Amino acid sequence: MSDRWPIGVFASIDAGLGVKLEVARELGVPTIQLHAPHQQTRTKANADAFLAKLKDYGIRLTAVFGGFEGESYADIPTVDRTVGLVPLETRAARLAEMKEISDFAKLLGCPVIALHLGFVPHNTQATWYQEILIVTRELCKYAAANGQALHLETGQESAAGLLQFIGDVRCENLYINFDPANMILYGSGEPIEALRMVGKYVRSIHCKDGTWAANPGKEWGREVPLGEGDVGMENYLRTLKEIGYDGPLTIEREIPQEPERQKAEIGHAVRLLTELRAKVLG
Ligand code: MG
Repeated sequence: MSDRWPIGVFASIDAGLGVKLEVARELGVPTIQLHAPHQQTRTKANADAFLAKLKDYGIRLTAVFGGFEGESYADIPTVDRTVGLVPLETRAARLAEMKEISDFAKLLGCPVIALHLGFVPHNTQATWYQEILIVTRELCKYAAANGQALHLETGQESAAGLLQFIGDVRCENLYINFDPANMILYGSGEPIEALRMVGKYVRSIHCKDGTWAANPGKEWGREVPLGEGDVGMENYLRTLKEIGYDGPLTIEREIPQEPERQKAEIGHAVRLLTELRAKVLG
């Protein structure tokens, strides 16, 4: 069996919507992405303890995701107002916090940090757009000094918008964490077509599924268990093969309020992906 496409799961310690590391172990998942823990727990001692656990469980950490106090995914306008480095009121503080998260990821020996940047304005001539380029460059530069790449989570932007933005930032360590369900949930484009367009920048991915809203882009689509939505998982994996992606298949299922169901559905996703991986890679 090749090392290509190890299964992964999105995990949390004390913040974010992922599963506990113990669940990853129980499900036999060999890699995780981690939602950064709260600021007060991002200590060297905690990093060492977490590393020891990863080693003990035989799990590899592939990315650390930043998330911030005050972010809300309640509806699309709220995301616009509250998420990522785009909202001006919180931008400086969040940039500083992302740098701390980069330092914490370094303590964990992790070469990738990632985040939802927020809704990037579409008018590339606007001062606002230029300011977001500057803040993204500063974060890329900081990550590079820590030996890391920065991956932008997809969702809010169309594939064309993302390509434009990455091209305008002009940093060699800026890549994409592709989430096909988000393209559907936010109504930002057909995910398979989008994946082909941004393929050369895709360095990590989420395996998540969703169904289109009646009015895409105005209201949320619905996140559903893997294989039950509009992504088309086999086609998704075939397209990942086509673009030459060989990183982990990281399952994301954001229902921490229902831990039993979350674990059961992730277990199902592990089985589905294992089966499809064998079929697609042959
Ligand atoms: Mg995602």
